[in-house]
Amino acid sequence: MRYDVINPATEKVVRTISLATEQDADAAISRAADAFATWRTVTPADRGRLLRRFADAVDADLENLAALEVENAGHTIGNARWEAGNVRDVLTYYSAAPERLFGKQIPVAGGIDVTFQEPLGVVGVIVPWNFPMPIAGWGFAPALAAGNTVVLKPAELTPLTALRLGELALEAGLPPGVFEVVPGKGTVVGQRFVTHPAVRKVVFTGSTAVGKQIMAGCADQVKRVTLELGGKSANVVFADADLEKAAAQAPYGVFDNAGQDCCARSRILVERSAYDRFLELLEPAVKAFKVGDPGDPATEMGPLISAEQRVRVESFVENVAFQGTAPSGPGFWFPPTVVTEPGDRVLREEIFGPVVAVVPFEDEADALRIANDSEYGLSGSIWTRDVGRALRVGRGFEAGNLSVNSNSSVRYSTPFGGYKQSGLGRELGPDALDALTETKNIFISTED
Ligand code: NAP
Ligand code: MG
Repeated sequence: MRYDVINPATEKVVRTISLATEQDADAAISRAADAFATWRTVTPADRGRLLRRFADAVDADLENLAALEVENAGHTIGNARWEAGNVRDVLTYYSAAPERLFGKQIPVAGGIDVTFQEPLGVVGVIVPWNFPMPIAGWGFAPALAAGNTVVLKPAELTPLTALRLGELALEAGLPPGVFEVVPGKGTVVGQRFVTHPAVRKVVFTGSTAVGKQIMAGCADQVKRVTLELGGKSANVVFADADLEKAAAQAPYGVFDNAGQDCCARSRILVERSAYDRFLELLEPAVKAFKVGDPGDPATEMGPLISAEQRVRVESFVENVAFQGTAPSGPGFWFPPTVVTEPGDRVLREEIFGPVVAVVPFEDEADALRIANDSEYGLSGSIWTRDVGRALRVGRGFEAGNLSVNSNSSVRYSTPFGGYKQSGLGRELGPDALDALTETKNIFISTED
């Protein structure tokens, strides 16, 4: 089946690709299963070296990858460069892992006992359209480092950078079959990763609704699963914070990538005594947010991914307090939007667009009550000059990734993942390989 990839800033066809069928998916899985037999035996140093070569190939192709993402996903060129650089950095970080994949030596009676971190086999990585490159890399880089082979399904809307990464892996010298990119429909290719017995683990990022289906499907084979799902993150601003800085940075915490970010701080909670002042400071920052041609380095926000996504985002908007601007004409544009009297849907559902609710709170307990009043628990921010309060509130937050006086959630060297319905398991950081290996215990008798 042919599929037209659309540029969301122009609505023009960028490229037509062919979508994999279930038979194509099976063939890719079986190539990956065959390749596993040799990939797992590549020495740790050589596996590390190949991953560094892959990182170098990504680095050499960085401008091309970034340009592809600008065209395919409407990401700003600044973001797209960061995203390609993130793939390079994640590969480099995990290229050190094969030689550090330590087991334990555990004191026991009558012999010695050692553990091994063994690869699982074929790992299926299912990627959404919002961050095609980084989310792919967070799955495939540690999976490959651990000695697994990978089948990667990009989102239907955004396959181009994944296809290019597949070519770069081969150019870098990864053996064929070790990293297979399979563009196709979620209900066909993604679903096959769940049902095919040779796929031993699914790493899924996307909506909570589909994540639940994947988890239920994986139960049938007791297949391992990592889920990175939605969010409704809170940005909590106390009156003692640097309000100018908090307000200047708040738009980036929610409107980056046009709000299509699972970590988007789409609820800003402001201590009541600072609420009016915060809104006064926020309004000019939102109105000055630069929305337009994603290829222009000065642009801060591009379009939404699709016409469908724009209809969805529009459906949330009521009681607008103020809005920024967006181009008219072709492209799936939507302006940065601030709502101060949000309805229940705006407060609870993941909008995945540039819409933020700003609501007041009374004290620390009230801030935590509102912040935690969500089925999600991915990220959050706390703005205060009181370090004790920052830690108290941080410990009270039901969320996996918090920042104090900052809205940034992601560093490849630190763990990332959600509480509650935001997901299951953690990616990135020093322990990522735990979720991509089995622990094997071997006891060796020393008795005569
Ligand atoms: P989605 O349906 O969950 O898609 C995510 C990935 O899963 C895509 O690669 C998709 O393939 C695949 N998929 C879909 N149905 C599947 C199935 N039954 N079995 C296996 N794989 C399947 O997300 P979406 O439709 O792109 O976005 C809908 C909403 O999800 C957004 O508005 C947002 O609220 C949320 N979302 C969250 C994140 C996040 O990072 N947490 C990311 C994206 C979306 P296809 O592309 O071929 O459908
Ligand atoms: Mg979907």
